[in-house]
Amino acid sequence: MKLSYYCDSCKQENFIKASAPTRVELQMFLGKDEIKERCKYCSHLNIKHLNRIMASPSKMISFIVGVAGILIGGFLIYLFGWLGALAFSIPAIIAAQQQKTVSTFNKTTIRRK
Ligand SMILES: [Zn+2]
Repeated sequence: MKLSYYCDSCKQENFIKASAPTRVELQMFLGKDEIKERCKYCSHLNIKHLNRIMASPSKMISFIVGVAGILIGGFLIYLFGWLGALAFSIPAIIAAQQQKTVSTFNKTTIRRK
């Protein structure tokens, strides 16, 4: 899972380095309600309230899990026949799990002062 915001100036998506399962924990981790970061595309200084930070599934992890699932699944089908096809459900479970953490983050908001 990755956390990102959209730059006010050029509307490009910027990823932030901090990582937390919910906004409340992100707030505790940062010790403040907002982040101040320079856009890596246009250097505009963005001040974003944590409620405007969005989580998204990491494409890299989905890709690796998908490829590994297909390779392992193919191998198991070769060894065990159709039973090996069960291995294809593993990437689906991991993808669903990741989707769940993303929506948990996006659903929890912190109170604005
Ligand atoms: Zn920008």
